[in-house]
Amino acid sequence: MSCDFFSNATPGVQQISPYQPGKPIDELKRELGLDDIVKLASNENPLGCSPLAVAAIQAEMTQIGRYPDGNAFALKEAIRQKFGFAHNRITPGNGSNDILELVARAFINPGEEAVYSQHAFAVYPLAVLAASGKGVEVPALNYGHDLEAMARAVNGKTKVVFIANPNNPTGTWFERAEFEAFMAKIPANVLVVLDEAYVEYVTEAGFMNGFDYVDQYPNLLVSRTFSKAYGLASLRVGYAIAHPDVTNILNRVRQPFNVNSFGLAAATASLGDDAFVAASRELNAAGMRQIEAGLNALGLAFIPSRANFIAFDAKRPAMEVFQALLKEGVIVRPIANYGMPTWVRVSIGLEGENARFLQALTKVLG
Ligand SMILES: *Cc1c(COP(=O)(O)O)cnc(C)c1O
Repeated sequence: MSCDFFSNATPGVQQISPYQPGKPIDELKRELGLDDIVKLASNENPLGCSPLAVAAIQAEMTQIGRYPDGNAFALKEAIRQKFGFAHNRITPGNGSNDILELVARAFINPGEEAVYSQHAFAVYPLAVLAASGKGVEVPALNYGHDLEAMARAVNGKTKVVFIANPNNPTGTWFERAEFEAFMAKIPANVLVVLDEAYVEYVTEAGFMNGFDYVDQYPNLLVSRTFSKAYGLASLRVGYAIAHPDVTNILNRVRQPFNVNSFGLAAATASLGDDAFVAASRELNAAGMRQIEAGLNALGLAFIPSRANFIAFDAKRPAMEVFQALLKEGVIVRPIANYGMPTWVRVSIGLEGENARFLQALTKVLG
């Protein structure tokens, strides 16, 4: 006799479609026997990470047997010194994904609602459903967030609104005026999660920075990550800046040791290496121009992006293009599962990697 564990799961969990991660390089090597693989599928930093982070990890090696600092004091102190936020406004996360889950678990009762955009990060619905909440997906406007419509979607059952600036997988963004008009319409008891995973990549002067707003709006939480521009994706470190009352709540559901010692040490050291982040931003801007030029030459439409990736319309099923590129040793991300059946997202890599991608794409589409 066996139990029907599917029926046993909560209705929300039954509705979850598991997150589809980018294909690992080693997996493609095994499958195709290829050696020279280019992975442009997970918005990783092609420069790796700061040498200060590597040194910090090495120094931490002697302490493997000890639990990490559950209070993340050194990381909080580095964030305080760099951005000016008191420790009681900082929540460390096992990646910023952890922050999204903590928010959903702490604030959403079964049946209550969270609002997010069409073509938004796949983890928002996942976190909401896992908490037995109801996800309300608002149609996108030109592939980006329709903040006016999102504000209108908020009702008495809404607990959280998730917005990303820039957004993944589209790379779209909104400006200060749109954001301020949006916040003015959101009730004080609805928490707005502003996900700024890619903000360090933005080159435009005057681009909005969520940290400028957390004092003004007690119902605003800004999440940041060390996975992208800081290049620490494998270590899983992110954090939230929010009102002390919100932070206090998140701390109740946060696992006591949610960030490991290597992650803490590397993230703390990375905050001291602005030059690395600036070099990453510059390389990305040049690579973005390179890939845009290549897509233009192929006559492919793309969505202008301020992040470290760009989405383009391959004009045929994205899965086919993805599979064909794999055979050329190039891993990209089809985003059919984001409601964009013929679109592909490619992360910006090193100049040579971008060239390999464009060459392979030319061959595959040709
Ligand atoms: C990559 C990404 C994150 C960061 O995830 P981590 O858990 O910090 O690695 C968060 N939000 C969006 C929109 C992302 O694309």
